[in-house]
Amino acid sequence: MKVVTIGGGPAGLYLAILLKKANPDHQVTVLERNGPVDAFGWGVVTDSFAQWDDIDILFLGTTVTSGGHGFSGIARKKLLNILQERATSLGVELQFHCEIRDDAELGALGLADADLIVAADGINSLIRKKYARHFRPDLDVRSARFTRLGTTRLCDAFTFIFVENEHGVFQSHAYRFDEGHSAFIVECDEQSWRNAGSDMLEVHCAHGYLLSSFITPVSNQRTDEYAGSLENRLRLPVEVFAAMRNVWPEERPMSVRISATDWMEEGIQGDHAVAVARAFAAVGVDIIHVSTGQTSPDAKPVYGRMFQTPYSDRIRNEAGIPTIAVGNITEADQVNGIIAAERGPVRARSSAPARPELDASRGRRAGLHRPALARSVPDRQKAARTQSPAPG
Ligand SMILES: Cc1cc2nc3c(=O)[nH]c(=O)nc-3n(C[C@H](O)[C@H](O)[C@H](O)COP(=O)(O)OP(=O)(O)OC[C@H]3O[C@@H](n4cnc5c(N)ncnc54)[C@H](O)[C@@H]3O)c2cc1C
Repeated sequence: MKVVTIGGGPAGLYLAILLKKANPDHQVTVLERNGPVDAFGWGVVTDSFAQWDDIDILFLGTTVTSGGHGFSGIARKKLLNILQERATSLGVELQFHCEIRDDAELGALGLADADLIVAADGINSLIRKKYARHFRPDLDVRSARFTRLGTTRLCDAFTFIFVENEHGVFQSHAYRFDEGHSAFIVECDEQSWRNAGSDMLEVHCAHGYLLSSFITPVSNQRTDEYAGSLENRLRLPVEVFAAMRNVWPEERPMSVRISATDWMEEGIQGDHAVAVARAFAAVGVDIIHVSTGQTSPDAKPVYGRMFQTPYSDRIRNEAGIPTIAVGNITEADQVNGIIAAERGPVRARSSAPARPELDASRGRRAGLHRPALARSVPDRQKAARTQSPAPG
């Protein structure tokens, strides 16, 4: 039998292993869009490697421990690598960096004659969606929010912590998954999430992250309407920002972090950065967090004292948008100088804060108090929202 599995997560790999073990004559191919060592998420808990027994529940100031459970944790990446190795040793063919957006694409890979196609492409399976009428999946999507974090604090038990405060009820569960790390997952209901006390939200559009890779022509090699002119390259980042602005409380500020130059001739330069800032201002950004570079290994950055501050100045002066300045700002005098200079020409619009790269204790020792961002942008950029989007 010829079997094609779309998706090389735990399910796809495990099925491939079982099929090969059941009958070594089966031809099994696993198609996975990621590479063999890419993995998302931290660790998973399994019950196959007993490493700890206890569950600790922290609730209303007391800890209740229940023993005798027998859990173990393993990093997802490690789990996948073990399954990949086992599958390969049994003769499964693994093809990485192979994204299948439609099962009709299998023909191009010489797999059109497969006897069985397995959709193991995860919770957002495209194949399941395509054949929903036949599979009739039953997905019950709820509104709870969670964030999955990692920590070097090692948990001795499967730890559940419940905290109730003025914003609502929050629950975290944490567990160790290797010698040096624990996963730490925080969850809450939608209402608590909306009430929770983040004063400001930043959308990261710098340093080669996904949205940054759309903005800079150095990495945006697309050929569709999200490529080409700066206006096109900004389309997705601006849409994402606008969607977030739409649900983020009106009275709380939002910033966007940008790479104001790619440090490459063919990349983003200072004048483009002004246009980028204007485009975000048009959809309601309050403050631009001005960084540079880290968008290409070929960049030739010029480091120095406060080396990114001129880019921040330019955006503030030319686009009239408050900025956060960062980058090799190490002394209290430098911070005070930046703040003083920024107050001059832009006083009417904002008191743009510098975000010194000092840790809190060093800052306190130097007699500095980090300017409160929320306080520094009391007047949302209503006027700026009426500006036209960035030119192409
Ligand atoms: C926050 C969180 C915590 C969890 N904790 C645990 C835990 O502690 N223990 C536990 O047992 N389970 C845990 N789970 C559940 C576990 O992660 C899933 O049950 C498991 O990953 C499902 O495996 P899968 O192979 O079906 O899907 P996935 O793991 O999602 O794998 C799907 C694979 O298909 C690939 N793929 C997707 N689309 C395509 C495409 N078009 N072309 C090619 N490849 C594609 C993906 O890259 C991926 O590698 C957790 C899940 C979450 C979200």
